[in-house]
Amino acid sequence: MKTVLITGSSSGIGLGIAIEFAKTKQFNIIFNGLEANGPEIAEQVARDYGIGTMFSNANMLKPEELRKMVSDGIAKFGKIDVLVNNAGIQHVSAVEDFPEEKWDAIIAINLTSAFHLTKAVWKGMKERKFGRIINIASAHGLVASEFKSAYVASKHGIVGFTKTIALEGAPFNITANAICPGYVKTPLVEKQIKDQAKTHGIPENEVISKIMLYKQAVKDFVTVELLGQTAVFMASESASTLTGTALPIDGGWNAQ
Ligand code: NAD
Repeated sequence: MKTVLITGSSSGIGLGIAIEFAKTKQFNIIFNGLEANGPEIAEQVARDYGIGTMFSNANMLKPEELRKMVSDGIAKFGKIDVLVNNAGIQHVSAVEDFPEEKWDAIIAINLTSAFHLTKAVWKGMKERKFGRIINIASAHGLVASEFKSAYVASKHGIVGFTKTIALEGAPFNITANAICPGYVKTPLVEKQIKDQAKTHGIPENEVISKIMLYKQAVKDFVTVELLGQTAVFMASESASTLTGTALPIDGGWNAQ
């Protein structure tokens, strides 16, 4: 059995990724997130798929809690083979009004937490000559949209971090890749739909068709299943030369 640690996996994309790892029955899963029902989610997945799971509510803003999550995971499962840095937040505002504390939180949660966790799992991966780091960036890791300065900066940052650790990990069979999704219908996006409907004074279905999916050639939300299956593929033994990439899964947004 291998072990995968997935941050922000008690909701949305992280949970979808966890389910795809669970389906393979080849991974124990360390769940993480701020949702109060995180422990129940982890227990349910263990029962449904007959695998080992644990839950940690480590806060991405607190490096010491991240290090403890890693050491607790290693104490329970012996090692961490795959790290999926997925936890993230968003805030939409013009730069002149952008709250400074929101900027700091977005950079810390979306970018700096990935550094702390990568650092914490690195030594073991290097010793065992196997490691897979998968960073959930965004289409906004490759292109910008207005009013998302901190988010776009954090996601471009994580793409750069991914490339750097891909180079450092290459001699040790540690790969690092970023997945860059377009819009996925999760609680993070549901909130944006509501906020934008209010800001623009238009119905929510128009926010989806006229604003959100405007840049995607495929006028559908990206599914968590596709993102999860991609992460499982990137984590496989055979994907050892797939490294340093930032893969858009964005319905053709970045093709334009
Ligand atoms: P979500 O809100 O459903 O889930 C986010 C998860 O991160 C939750 O489990 C939450 O508890 C956790 N989290 C947030 N702040 C945290 C903190 N301080 N400490 C610990 N955990 C924390 O959102 P989602 O849409 O599933 O987003 C997951 C990732 O995918 C994010 O990095 C996001 O930027 C990225 N992404 C989302 C979309 C989309 O359209 N939904 C598109 C591209 C990229």
